[in-house]
Amino acid sequence: MTAEIIDGKAFAAKVRGQVAAHVAQLVEEHGIKPGLAVVLVGSDPASEVYVKSKGKMTEEVGMTSVEHRLPAETAEADLLVLIAALNVDPRIHGILVQLPLPPHLNSELVINSIDPAKDVDGFHISNVGLLGTGQKSMVPCTPLGCLMMLREHLGSLSGLNAVVVGRSNIVGKPMAQLLLGDSCTVTIAHSRTKDLAAVCRGADILVAAVGRPEMITGDYVKPGATVIDVGINRIDVGGKTKLVGDVAFESCAAVAGAITPVPGGVGPMTIACLLANTLTAACRANGLPEPKGLTA
Ligand code: NDP
Repeated sequence: MTAEIIDGKAFAAKVRGQVAAHVAQLVEEHGIKPGLAVVLVGSDPASEVYVKSKGKMTEEVGMTSVEHRLPAETAEADLLVLIAALNVDPRIHGILVQLPLPPHLNSELVINSIDPAKDVDGFHISNVGLLGTGQKSMVPCTPLGCLMMLREHLGSLSGLNAVVVGRSNIVGKPMAQLLLGDSCTVTIAHSRTKDLAAVCRGADILVAAVGRPEMITGDYVKPGATVIDVGINRIDVGGKTKLVGDVAFESCAAVAGAITPVPGGVGPMTIACLLANTLTAACRANGLPEPKGLTA
């Protein structure tokens, strides 16, 4: 079997197009221009790249993009003052604090100081609780992107066996909650799971969010399963850096029914979902209907 490739790049472009159309309508009919503020503390090179690309795409869909670049030595109190100002700024509907923060800053405290309604990363403890209890929340962007791709590819997910490998707060756990919300039978696997390959072979949907290059091989995959590779790992191949996922693509594609590539799978969907969340936040803030198909 050779798997169908789920093209995250093309799907993300479609999502951004839907967001742009809805933003244009909001501006025209209601005079509301959604705004996203991104806060970057320090100059981590990977974070710089993400922030730049987020700003560019935010403007491309017609939203206001505001960037706050603060020095690495910024005091926690100063960062909290900035977030408090953004919380009450009516032009800003989404606030994203780029992680990781420098070690002297308490990430939990900082994230929980964001107004939950503007927490477009979905990391605020209120949003975590709302998602866990099946209520309307801001959903973390990467798992939301995975869910959208699965729905697009499979239609209804009801009754399917889903295995999520990884139990982090930003990917594994919210991914499992979303799959449960769509009535999958969900298993969360992690580093202590016994006979991981056998657990994974029970999955109709296999999501890998491990952070270990090409760890999931074809013998972990049930024939015909849908495989979502969240991993982003940089490895050295003959002196050159190559981007690979947590899934060994060739070996899994020979068994799976469908698979996301790296790059070009989950990655582009993450930013598209950040834009979708900002739009959703703007609609909710103004008591307007949420965009269809862009929320959990
Ligand atoms: P974390 O390091 O926070 O979590 C990794 C998880 O994998 C942990 O739960 C860990 O288990 C589990 N794990 C580690 N080794 C094994 C193993 N040998 N067998 C089974 N489980 C294992 O990572 P994140 O969730 O933050 O990220 C996961 C991957 O996704 C990374 O490659 C990251 O770069 C990528 N990522 C991609 C994004 C995107 O936009 N595409 C966004 C966010 C992340 P335990 O808890 O027991 O230690």
